[in-house]
Amino acid sequence: MTDLPLAPGSTIGILGGGQLGRMLAVAASRLGFDIVILDPDPDPPAGRVSAHAIPAPYDDPRALEALAAAASLVTYEFENVPAGAVAKLAEIGVEVAPGPLALKVAQDRWEEKTFLNANGAATVAFAKADTAEEAVAAVETVGAPALMKTRREGYDGKGQRWVEHAAEADRAFAELGGVPVILEAAAAFERELSIIAARGRDGSMAVYPLAENHHENGILRRSIAPARLSPQAREQAERIAARILTGLDYVGVIGVELFEMAGGNLLVNEIAPRVHNTGHWTMDGCAVDQFEQHIRAVAGWPLGPTHAIARVEMLNLLGDEVDGWRRFAGEPETRVHLYGKREAKPGRKMGHVNRVKAL
Ligand code: AMP
Repeated sequence: MTDLPLAPGSTIGILGGGQLGRMLAVAASRLGFDIVILDPDPDPPAGRVSAHAIPAPYDDPRALEALAAAASLVTYEFENVPAGAVAKLAEIGVEVAPGPLALKVAQDRWEEKTFLNANGAATVAFAKADTAEEAVAAVETVGAPALMKTRREGYDGKGQRWVEHAAEADRAFAELGGVPVILEAAAAFERELSIIAARGRDGSMAVYPLAENHHENGILRRSIAPARLSPQAREQAERIAARILTGLDYVGVIGVELFEMAGGNLLVNEIAPRVHNTGHWTMDGCAVDQFEQHIRAVAGWPLGPTHAIARVEMLNLLGDEVDGWRRFAGEPETRVHLYGKREAKPGRKMGHVNRVKAL
């Protein structure tokens, strides 16, 4: 058993060494922790700001043993961590936070929506399909047009196809590789919002102001926070976040993506059991950002304040947009956050900027 609250000087393990792992590592180092990263990439962005990095597949038993030997507890920066890796760490006796239920729910879109509805968080109508025939029937159930999504491993809009008529469902099913899918009713949303929330070891909760998010081709481009919205909508979002955190017996930071429908009602699109791109504004808009908050939560420290101290427009820098760093660095209201990735492939998240204004 890990002694909590975890004392400064202890080491925290992170599964995944991308930009989220990197920003977690920087926040953890401010609190006096050391970080060990496990990532198959021999030179991951988080590795260069961490005390140690273990280059190995996530389910490599020897690497997991090395991680467990180095770290007092383990967290993760992405939800597709193999369940076997978490089970292996538990078997060795190292705690992983957030726990296995959050991963199980977030790794499968059908499990996720079923969990949400069972916990009083409304979603669009959905149905699952394992075969082309079931896919046709599922479109008839939820109504056309419907959005077909692979149940597992989709991100940034990948693994998704719109189906205009039930008759087209078998082709879309084949295009997505014939793997299990869900069909979702089209959400005629007015805006996309998200709420970042945290739950501590003692069940205490903290929620940040909502962000308004703009996507292009399924990838987040821009967030504006705090989003302007009615007190009722904010209360509904906070209620939804609290139900999800409690239902998962969660420890750490979670991102909840929401659709704001006409009239202001909120539906949950999806949850991410980790720090989230739509929470990057908190780095310059809040006294304790989502990365420090996550480290505080998993380490058993008190949660920090979540109110906004500034208005922020967050812009993702995709691909060669990162070459604009000189210009951004010259803007007095702009904070530049770069991820140290060696190669700017098209669409790759290379960094972000926060444009900060007084509240
Ligand atoms: P996801 O991977 O589920 O977050 O979906 C990526 C993006 O696709 C979302 O941010 C929305 O813009 C859009 N989207 C997802 N699900 C739906 C839906 N049921 N109806 C309309 N648009 C959707």
